[in-house]
Formats: sequence, structure tokens, C-alpha cells
Amino acid sequence: MAPEHTTAAYDRAVQFGADYIELDVQRTKDGVLVVIHDATLDRTARGVPADCTGRVAEKTIAQIESCDAGTWFNATYPALARPEFAGLRVPRLADVLTRYAGATKLYIETKEPESYPGIESDLAAVFRQNAISPGTAALPRVFIQSFSKASLLRFKELDTGFPLIQLMSAMSPSAIIAQLPDVRTYAAGIGVRKADVTAGLIQSAHAACLLVHPYTVNDDHEMLSLLEMGVDGIFTDRPDQLRDAIARGPDRPAGESGCIVVAR
Ligand code: CA
Repeated sequence: MAPEHTTAAYDRAVQFGADYIELDVQRTKDGVLVVIHDATLDRTARGVPADCTGRVAEKTIAQIESCDAGTWFNATYPALARPEFAGLRVPRLADVLTRYAGATKLYIETKEPESYPGIESDLAAVFRQNAISPGTAALPRVFIQSFSKASLLRFKELDTGFPLIQLMSAMSPSAIIAQLPDVRTYAAGIGVRKADVTAGLIQSAHAACLLVHPYTVNDDHEMLSLLEMGVDGIFTDRPDQLRDAIARGPDRPAGESGCIVVAR
């Protein structure tokens, strides 16, 4: 609906009632955490090639903030293009926290963490500086997600209290189930491919007090079918459709499992 990882996209997510906005974090050469999916600028940034192509880790924040993060979207998706998307910037994580902390909750991924030694403590420092704490609401203010177990364990050692989500790439439901006893020792849930979700997997995860959040679901029928299976949340590019699907989907008895979402 709008260029990914920009204020235009996050504003729409908030407007459509998303419980969380999802952000991927990379780190500039001079140590600033920025919100961008890819480790390189090439796909979603435009500008002077020396500043706006290549690895985020090799650019300064000044170089990255010179790049346009919306023009690529207008060119790639002409039917969704809007003039105001041109000129959008790659946001700093700190600015996203400031802008959205009161409006929605945050679901933050450490992306390619092995390329950024110490990114977990950098992240914790940004939370501290912006007074972001786990909170006491039924839904935590922040989830930390990663495909890297090592990164999640490093984050856990920092003892911030933020719940962790272990992302899993393509894997059979039985292979995922086999990992749950280990995952539950440090994480509050799993993020799995929608194609790998079965009712049995959800049942096993819930029995281990683990949340199940499938990615990335943009089709109404798939949303409804996953909600009926009992998933706890859904990653989507279409929060408007998901709101409708939740309204039409099954009633969920609250607190039935006896599980509380906690940082382990
Ligand atoms: Ca992500």
C-alpha cells in the first residue's frame, strides 16, 4: 500500500488499526540503527550511487539520509504510486520509536545480526534512551524477533524483559514441533511460514506456552483459515484486510491457555 519501512507505510498501519508495526533493523558505518529490510540499499533506495547503493553497514547515516526511499515503490507499483512517496527517507530506529511509541506497538527484527556485532546491546540502548519498557499490558509493547537463535540469546542475556520470537524458515511442521522444547527456554513464540502452520503445530506450541505468528499473509481466505486454526497473530502487508478477517473470524476465549506472554 506504501513504500515498506517508511513513515508512509507505518502511518497507514496505525490508521488501519495494526496492533504492531514490523521493522527490520540494520546499522550504519557510524553506528546508527536504521529501519530497512535489506542489508543493501539497492532495492529500496535511490540517489547518488556512491551514497545509495551497496551495503548499509558501509555507509554513514548522512549518506543514507540523503537517499530517497519511496521512488522505487512508485516505479515498481505504478497502480499504487503517489507523488508524496517520492522523497521519503530511510528512518532511524530512534525516530520510529518516538513517532509511534504512543500510537502502536513494535515488532522489531535483528536482521543479519552476525554482520553487526553488538547490535543487540545497541538496540537495548535505544530502548533505554527512548524510555521504551516492556510495559504491563496484555500485549507487550515490543517483540524482538530474529531468525538467529544466537542473536536472541544475546538479547536475552541483556535482561531487558522484552519477549523474543524465534523466526523459522521453511521447515516441516514436525521439524518445528521438535524444536519447541528448546525454543520455549528462551522465547515467547515462533514466527513461521504460513505454509508450515497446521492445527497440530499450533496445539503443540500452545501446550508449550509459545505464541504462533505466521508470515506473510495477504489473502483473506488464508487469514481466516489461520485464525480458525488458532494462530495468535499474523504478519501482513494488508492490516486493513486482517482487521476485517479478525472481525469475521472466530471468537477467541481470552486467557484460556493459562499462558502469559513473558520474556523467558
Ligand atoms: Ca522482518
